[in-house]
Amino acid sequence: MTFKELDLIQPILKAVEDKNYTEPTPIQAKAIPLILDRNDVLGSAQTGTGKTAAFSMPIIQFIHNRKVSQNKTFISALIVTPTRELAIQIDEDIRDYGKYTNVKHTVIYGGVKQAKQVAQIKQGVDVLVATPGRLLDLISQRIISLKQVDFFVLDEADRMLDMGFIHDIKKLLTLLPHKRQSLFFSATMPPNIIKLSEQILDHPKRVEVSPVSSTAEMIQQYLYYTNKEDKKDLLYHILENQDMKQVLLFSRTKHGADKIVRNLKKKNISSAAIHGDKAQTQRQKALNDFKNGEIRVLVATDIAARGIDIDKLKYVINYDIPNESESYVHRIGRSGRAGEEGTAISICEPEENVYVKDIEQLIKKRIEVVRDNPYPQTNKPMNKLEKKEFEKDKQRRKNEFFANKKKKEGSKGKRGNSSSSKRRY
Ligand code: AMP
Repeated sequence: MTFKELDLIQPILKAVEDKNYTEPTPIQAKAIPLILDRNDVLGSAQTGTGKTAAFSMPIIQFIHNRKVSQNKTFISALIVTPTRELAIQIDEDIRDYGKYTNVKHTVIYGGVKQAKQVAQIKQGVDVLVATPGRLLDLISQRIISLKQVDFFVLDEADRMLDMGFIHDIKKLLTLLPHKRQSLFFSATMPPNIIKLSEQILDHPKRVEVSPVSSTAEMIQQYLYYTNKEDKKDLLYHILENQDMKQVLLFSRTKHGADKIVRNLKKKNISSAAIHGDKAQTQRQKALNDFKNGEIRVLVATDIAARGIDIDKLKYVINYDIPNESESYVHRIGRSGRAGEEGTAISICEPEENVYVKDIEQLIKKRIEVVRDNPYPQTNKPMNKLEKKEFEKDKQRRKNEFFANKKKKEGSKGKRGNSSSSKRRY
C-alpha cells in the first residue's frame, strides 16, 4: 500500500515525501479511505500509530479542494484533544501535511494569555486545534463560533474522560452543528467511552490497530548486558546463529546506522541502512532487497522503520535500548506480526541500564537476560560529572565531524564531483 493509492491530492503527497514516510501506517491505510468517503470513524489507536496523519490528511484535502473553488476561511474543522502538548503536536503535524495547501490552522490551549491566540483566530482559520477549557472560554467570549464546523475530531477520548473533561465535551456537543463528519479516537474502548462515542458519531465505521503493550506478549524477548565498546563484537556473536536469516536491526541515530552497516559489510554480512538521509528510491531498494532475502540485516532508525510491514519477520535486534519505552514496543512489534512467532534481542550498554526498568514496567514482564554472553557488562554507568565531560567531548567530536565533512564536500564540489548523497554509498 502506498500513499498514492489512498487517493490523496498532490500537495499532500508532496508533503508526505518531505516527511520521508515510505508507506501509510495501518491506521492510515484503514482510516483515510473511510474518512475520504465521508464516514464517521471510531478509531481505537494510541499515540505513535500515525493516527494524527490519518485524520488530518483527509480534512486538509477536503478544505483545500473547497477553497480552490470557494476561497472562504472559517472554522471548518475542530480538533479537540486533552493536553496542550498533544494540541501543539497536532497543529505542527497539520502545518507539515498542509504546507503545500492553502489551509490555515492554529492551536489554542489554556495556561497562557489568550491575546496571541485570539489574534490568530481573527486572521482566519480553517482548522482549529484546541484543548476543551480554552475553547469553551473563547466561545463564551464570542471570539469563536462553531456554527460552520464540518469536521469534528475528538482525540484521546479516554484520557479526556480521565482528566475530567466529560462536562466540557457534553457542552461542546450542544454547540456543534448536527450535520457534520465526526472522528473519534481513543486508545481504549471501555463502556463509558463507547457510550460517549454513540452520542457523537453517526453510523461510524470502526477502525482498530492493536495497542502497543499487547503486541509485546507474543514475542520472545532477550537482553544482553554489555559494554559500549563490545557491542560490535557481541552483534557478530549473535549473528553467528545462521537461523537468523532476516534481521531488522534498530539504531538510535542515522550516523550509527551507517556505521553498523559498514562494520557488518567488513564481516561479509550483507546489510543496508534505511533512514531519513537516504533517498526514497534507496530506501525502497533496501527494503525490497531485504524482503527478497538478498540482504540479511536491515538497519533502521525508529522513524524510518514506521510503517514497515514485513511478513513473517522473525528477528528484531535493538542495538541500543530506546529511552522511550513505547519505542521499544514499536520496534519489537515489527516481528511476530499477525500471530507469527517473533524474537527480539536487545543489547544494553551501561548508560542504558536505567531504560530497561521503564520498559519492563510498560510491558509488565521481565526481559530474559542472556547469561551465555562472551562480552558481559563490566563497566558502570557514568556518574554526573563523567557524563557531563562525555557529552562535552561528544559535542566537540560531532562539530569536528561536520566541519570536516563540509570541508571535504566543498573541495569535492569545486572539482565538479557528483552530489554528496550519492557519495554516501
Ligand atoms: P502519531 O501517532 O500521530 O502521534 O504519530 C507518531 C509518529 O509517527 C509521528 O512522529 C509521525 O511523524 C510519524 N508518522 C506518521 N505517519 C507515518 C508514516 N506513514 N511513516 C512513518 N512515520 C509516520
